Amino acid sequence: MNNCDQPGLTPVEAALDQILSAVAPISDSTLTGLHNACGRVLSSDVVSPVAVPPQDNSAMDGYAVSVATSEQYRVIGIAYAGHPFNGTLSPGDAVRIMTGAPVPAGATVVVMQENAVVDGDSVSFKQALIQGDNIRRAGEDIMPGSVVLASGRRLTPADCGLLASIGISEVSVVRPLRIALLTTGDELVTPGQPLANGQIYESNSYVLTPVLQRLKAEVQSISALEDSVDAIEVALRDAAAWADIVITCGGVSVGEADYTRTAVERCGQLALWKLAMKPGKPLAFGSVGDALFLGLPGNPVSSLVTLHQIGLPLLRTLSGERYETPVRMPAIAAEVFRKRPGRTDFQRGIASLNPDGKLQVRPTGQQGSGMLTSVSQANCFVILEQERGRVETGEYVTIELFDQWLS
Ligand code: AMP
Ligand code: MG
Repeated sequence: MNNCDQPGLTPVEAALDQILSAVAPISDSTLTGLHNACGRVLSSDVVSPVAVPPQDNSAMDGYAVSVATSEQYRVIGIAYAGHPFNGTLSPGDAVRIMTGAPVPAGATVVVMQENAVVDGDSVSFKQALIQGDNIRRAGEDIMPGSVVLASGRRLTPADCGLLASIGISEVSVVRPLRIALLTTGDELVTPGQPLANGQIYESNSYVLTPVLQRLKAEVQSISALEDSVDAIEVALRDAAAWADIVITCGGVSVGEADYTRTAVERCGQLALWKLAMKPGKPLAFGSVGDALFLGLPGNPVSSLVTLHQIGLPLLRTLSGERYETPVRMPAIAAEVFRKRPGRTDFQRGIASLNPDGKLQVRPTGQQGSGMLTSVSQANCFVILEQERGRVETGEYVTIELFDQWLS
C-alpha cells in the first residue's frame, strides 16, 4: 500500500483501485420481506417461477376477434380483467374486452374500441384486422425459469415491483453493513448548545449519517471526540469491536493537532494519501482490529465529496453490491470556473438546459471546502481534470448529477 512517504499527489482513481482491491465483500445473508427489501442487496439470483404476463391479455379496451371474411362480427360475451370470458370464439365471433383481461380462446386480434362500430349485438371495424394487434403475449416480459435479478443487485422500487409481479414475498439479502462514524475535534459543539469563543458546530455527522443510512446500514456515531490520541484510540477499539468499518472525519492531515492517524497506528494500520483532488486532499485507509478503517478529511465539503467519490464505492462493494461507476456527461460552462492545474476539482454546480435545449452548468458561487452552501445549492459535481486551468464560458466540462445518495 502507498503511504504518506510517497512524494506527490495520488490520483483519485489510483487510491480507489487500491482500496477496492483490499475489500472482501460481506457474504452473510438474511431473509427479508418484500416490504423492507428496497435498498437492500440481493445475496443470490432470483429466478422467476412464473411467466409475466401469465397469459395472453388485452392491451386495450375494445373487441377480441376471431377473424373471418364477413364484415359484421357477432358479439358473444364480455371479458374483464379478473373475469375472463371462458368460451371459445369461432370465426366471425367477437368478445367485448377490457385492458388486462385474458384474450379468450380462438381470438387472434384485439381491435381498439375507437375503431369499432357497434350495431346491436354485432360490431364492424373501421380498419383492416392485423393478427396479434393489441395482444400482450404470455411471458413477453418474463419467461419462467429466467433470472430476473442477479446477486449483488441493490433493489430499487421497480425491482421490488418486479419481484411482486412474479409472486415472490421474501428475498435473501446481504445483512446490513455495520458502520461506526466518529467525528473528532476540540472545537466541535453539538447543535442546540451555545458556542464559546473558538468553537464551531459539529455538522459533518449530519451530512454523512443520512448518506450512510441510505445504504440501509446500521450506523452508530460518536460525535465531537476530543483531540487526544488516547481518547480516539479507546473510541476506535470500541467501534471496531462492533463495526465492519470505522469511518472518522478530521484529524488525518499532517497538522500538529491530527491525532486520528497516530491513534489508528496504535491499534491497526493505515495508508495515508494526499489525493490529487479538491476539495478533499488527505485521506486514510486501513484497518482497526478486524474492522476496515476509512479516515475522511474534516472540512465539511471535503468529507462529503470524499465519502461520495471514494467512501461509497468502498461501502457499496463491502455490502456485496455489484458497484458500477456513476454516469458522467458533458455540459457547457454557462459561467467561468476558476481553477488551477494540479488537482482534479469536484466543484459544485447547478445543471440546467439552456434556451437551445443543451445541457449547461454554472458554479454555486464560492467553492471553499468548508462552505456547505456550495453543496446545498448544487445539483451536480463539475469535475475539472487535474491538469486543466481556468474554464471559460462556452467550454465543455464534465458533470456528475447528484445521485440518490446525495439528493
Ligand atoms: P481537521 O481535518 O480535523 O484539521 O479539520 C479540518 C477543518 O474541518 C477544521 O476547520 C475543522 O474545524 C473542521 N471540521 C472537522 N470536523 C468537523 C465536523 N465534524 N463538523 C464541522 N467541521 C469540522
Ligand atoms: Mg480536527
